[in-house]
Amino acid sequence: MTPKILVVEDEDELRELLSLRLPTFGYQVITCGDGASALQVFKDSEPDLILLDWQLPGKNGIEVCKEIREISGVPIIMVTARTDSDDLDTGLRAGADDYVEKPFDEGKLLARIRAAIKRTSRAPLTNTDGESEDVVRIGPLLLDVVGHEVRRGDEKVSLTPLEFTLLLTLARKPKKVFSREELLENVWNYSYKADTRLVNVHIQRLRSKIEDDPDNPKIVTTVRGVGYKAGTN
Ligand code: CA
Repeated sequence: MTPKILVVEDEDELRELLSLRLPTFGYQVITCGDGASALQVFKDSEPDLILLDWQLPGKNGIEVCKEIREISGVPIIMVTARTDSDDLDTGLRAGADDYVEKPFDEGKLLARIRAAIKRTSRAPLTNTDGESEDVVRIGPLLLDVVGHEVRRGDEKVSLTPLEFTLLLTLARKPKKVFSREELLENVWNYSYKADTRLVNVHIQRLRSKIEDDPDNPKIVTTVRGVGYKAGTN
């Protein structure tokens, strides 16, 4: 099936360029020129990925991102002219999987789109030893690998596909400390240098959903100067 990309972009030229170029790489494109109608267009078109401009008239990309995250874990790549790190944090905290800065390089954008779509189409059903698993435990959580669900007792924990893959990657190797670069490679599918802040912000988002006290995490812990691991010892 042809993956469908929703482009939310108010600059006519860029919107038209993307709607011409992306189909040549095998994507179907739906466009929307403002933030106010983005949620409805999203609901109507059910895209596989959203390219979401940050600065939109009326309702900005951050607000749109938050709205969509309330109803869907669809991969969202924020497109931003901003490079300030506080702004980037805000965008990622709103639930975006990733961001690209304008003006962007087509090759890099395509690599990120491919990686994000690959990530959602399947969290790997087998671990790195090639063994298939139905469930993986991490602390009080049970990860249903096939159903992409996380449970704490009877309660379902709602994670995006990215957050699920991040948690699963850590849970499968409970003794291993993962560097941020390794997580970018294993979770985001990036084989090139990317921004390690992506990892920090998504770990924080994940903790806010799974930890009793996100400031004092027990399920996903930080190993200073190295990275992250499952558990506390
Ligand atoms: Ca704009």
